Amino acid sequence: MKIDFRSDTVTLPTSAMKEAMLNAIVGDDVYGEDITVSELEQKTAEQFGHEAGLFCPSGTMTNQIAIKVHTNPPGQVICHYLSHVYQYEVGGIAFNSGLSVSLIHGNRGMLSAEDVRKRVNDRMDVHKPLTQLVCLENTSNKGGGCCYDLETIAEIRKVCDEHDLGLHLDGARVFNSLVAKGYTAKELGQYFDSISVCFSKGLGAPVGSVLVGSKEFIHKAKWIRKLFGGGMRQAGYLAAAGVYALEHHVERLAEDHRRAKILAEALEKQAYVKSILPVETNIIIFELADTVDNKLFSERLYEKGIVANPYESTAIRFVVHLDIDDAKLAKAIEILEGLSFD
Ligand SMILES: *Cc1c(COP(=O)(O)O)cnc(C)c1O
Repeated sequence: MKIDFRSDTVTLPTSAMKEAMLNAIVGDDVYGEDITVSELEQKTAEQFGHEAGLFCPSGTMTNQIAIKVHTNPPGQVICHYLSHVYQYEVGGIAFNSGLSVSLIHGNRGMLSAEDVRKRVNDRMDVHKPLTQLVCLENTSNKGGGCCYDLETIAEIRKVCDEHDLGLHLDGARVFNSLVAKGYTAKELGQYFDSISVCFSKGLGAPVGSVLVGSKEFIHKAKWIRKLFGGGMRQAGYLAAAGVYALEHHVERLAEDHRRAKILAEALEKQAYVKSILPVETNIIIFELADTVDNKLFSERLYEKGIVANPYESTAIRFVVHLDIDDAKLAKAIEILEGLSFD
């Protein structure tokens, strides 16, 4: 049995989660008749202080729907160049929504209000696309799981209000940020026009994301979900995993964060590690020493029983999750301490 640090998406549903899925009361959700889907949508929206929610097959879909509803071509979206919406959604911002992007290179995948202010185009300049939307990511994946302070988000909100811009949050790991920073879902949620919340990451559900926003926003989003082929029928079997996760898998994220810190401390002592991004949540990104090739490194790890992908050209990413318990953590540290590259 390999110890899999590739992502928090690799978790398998627990027996209790499967039980909840099996017992779900379902209906045809395209007809609005699946009460379990509605329950998950409503619970998620309420937590974040929003009016309505929309269950979708993936976080890519919730992000892409949000971007489409907030904008009109030929507009522009401001986001970080490391962001998932830009890097890992197949150029959907251009393909689905006909927008250009204004990319910010800043602190670990996060934006500041000043970054945003500088990028808002002059509405009267006919050469420039109309800036319409700002996308933030919390936690920032490629930033190594770091979290925004609420003050920064409040300042960005202010700039958005001044310039009539929408503000969307890619919250694939938003619960990790809540647990790590101690702010509530409502405190965070108040600043955003829409939030994509993933259940298939740290929360341990097999499938699904919910987009939250105003009733009017979600009404429009429903059309786009159908257009993208994301209208699902008896999806309550999947939504039930999300409902279960909301009740049972949020507070335990602190365990993942604790284990990630222990793992980072062990890595720090190894000669083959050059540097590690400070660990705030469940993601560890470390740079290897110049003499160690990251593809070779991940192959060596694999032989010893750890799965982790090379990251960029010189780094490795480890993600701690529901299926990494203390025993697996100890075993992983033993393997990592036994590696040498002389
Ligand atoms: C995983 C992830 C998503 C959504 O991914 P899906 O696989 O489409 O659910 C979105 N944003 C970030 C930052 C992610 O890590």
